[in-house]
Amino acid sequence: MRLVLLGPPGAGKGTQARMVQEAYGIPQISTGDILREEVAEKTSLGSYAATFMERGALVPDEAIIEIVRRRLKQPEYAQGFILDGFPRTLAQAEALDRVLEAEGSAIDLILNLQVDEEELVARLAGRRICERCGEVFHLRFHPPRVEGRCDRCGGRLIQREDDREEVIRRRLKVYGEEAAPVVAYYGRKGKLKEVSATGEIESVKERIDRVLKSWSRGER
Ligand code: AMP
Repeated sequence: MRLVLLGPPGAGKGTQARMVQEAYGIPQISTGDILREEVAEKTSLGSYAATFMERGALVPDEAIIEIVRRRLKQPEYAQGFILDGFPRTLAQAEALDRVLEAEGSAIDLILNLQVDEEELVARLAGRRICERCGEVFHLRFHPPRVEGRCDRCGGRLIQREDDREEVIRRRLKVYGEEAAPVVAYYGRKGKLKEVSATGEIESVKERIDRVLKSWSRGER
């Protein structure tokens, strides 16, 4: 299965993509995670990307498209993948289709996660991530067993620079502007499924599961 998860920052794309990865055995590709690794390792791509990320702005298309293009060439993604945080612009969506088309494949399904803005701000402001393994927690909705420590690897939990409220508002605004053409593009292709991402992580997971199972059964 070749999947794309769309949705605003805070919709739970990362959390749900990891769940799909575990349940269906298809690897997740998160452009946000890739960029954060580059920033942490202080590579030249990382220092370039950081100047955009800190402001809640998008990293330019050419750089992101190149990252994804290189990833998709790796054999582990040949049987399928779940993209999270990409494509974010129409140019990225079109480039993705071209890359896949050149290999004779295509995206099977696009899931568009929907949550209202106030819930997104509450989710993002309370979000904490493990600086070592990237696992996502939330102070209120999904607290770690030991304060400040990751349940999975014991790493330190930190707040992302761009999860501060003023940056969150800016990211949501950028998303609103950039996402509409991407959603419309996929809508025209008839592969877009809207999924409500309000409420508990488990309920959202079940909704996604239902969509994926019905797709697997051939119900389009
Ligand atoms: P995320 O973890 O998906 O919220 O991404 C964090 C930040 O990384 C975004 O605010 C952007 O600055 C950058 N980023 C991640 N994915 C993309 C993308 N597909 N296009 C442009 N910028 C991106």
